[in-house]
Amino acid sequence: MLRHILGKPKEGGGRPRPDREISDSERQMMEKCGRAVSRLEELKINFLALDFDLTTIDVHTGGKWEGTTDELVSHIRPIFARLILDTHAAGIAIAIVTFSPQTRRITEVLERAFPEFGGSIPIRGRDRSWTYEGQGSKEGKQHHMASAAEELMGSRPGLRITKDSTLLIDDDANNVRIALHDHVRAVWLNPNRHHRVLDDIGRMS
Ligand SMILES: [Mg+2]
Repeated sequence: MLRHILGKPKEGGGRPRPDREISDSERQMMEKCGRAVSRLEELKINFLALDFDLTTIDVHTGGKWEGTTDELVSHIRPIFARLILDTHAAGIAIAIVTFSPQTRRITEVLERAFPEFGGSIPIRGRDRSWTYEGQGSKEGKQHHMASAAEELMGSRPGLRITKDSTLLIDDDANNVRIALHDHVRAVWLNPNRHHRVLDDIGRMS
């Protein structure tokens, strides 16, 4: 499935290759992802919170996706497929924070796209499966992130997630503004120039 998300193999001609050919733009994207994750490590960020609609995927489902899971998997932005793989490999915790109530569907998407770990990525959405009882902000995605962080810390002894060690990526500028105001790192994803998000992460201080 990831092969599908990250680009289709080139067909025809030449001798058989052990792996598909990687295009220059794909190689460039992979390098940028690697640099972005290095920056996260330098900044001691241990928790990446990703919005789903129009951020991780390139469509807005409106919380009412009626297509198949595989169709939704095909909408994962390649840079996010790569970023999630690299982030996970670096030992950085990941969660999906969304206003969508279709959390079960999102879990299926993650399981399909990342068979080795997708099923263990916490999802906080509007599905009434969780409440956040802590003292933190309940605006924007703040309580989604706080609740997911609690789950992650509960399942990983020694993991300590703080506001300063958290990064939110979201296409909704309001959520980004609320996060920054609450002293949580956040990067706005411009859906029309989504590749820039990697440069923006690389420039974070
Ligand atoms: Mg969104």
